Amino acid sequence: MKKIPQRTCVICHSKFDKRDLLRIVSDNSGEIFFDPTGKANGRGAYLCKSEECINQFLNKNYLERAFKRKVEKEVVERVRQQISNVK
Ligand SMILES: [Zn+2]
Repeated sequence: MKKIPQRTCVICHSKFDKRDLLRIVSDNSGEIFFDPTGKANGRGAYLCKSEECINQFLNKNYLERAFKRKVEKEVVERVRQQISNVK
């Protein structure tokens, strides 16, 4: 049996199969976006699909702390939109 890589949700710290997590990336140009391929370059954060974790993560203050950069409200909303498309 092939082993599926596991990753930890940044909010609830539970382990999940990598493919069951949402990957949010902050790339070198300063963009923050949802990465459906799991392969985009940049600093990635894995997030499980629970409503609670998504809501805690998609918070301007949280994202600014997590990615150590300023995050515009519009960016938060765009990522929220990107995630809601795949849920
Ligand atoms: Zn979680």
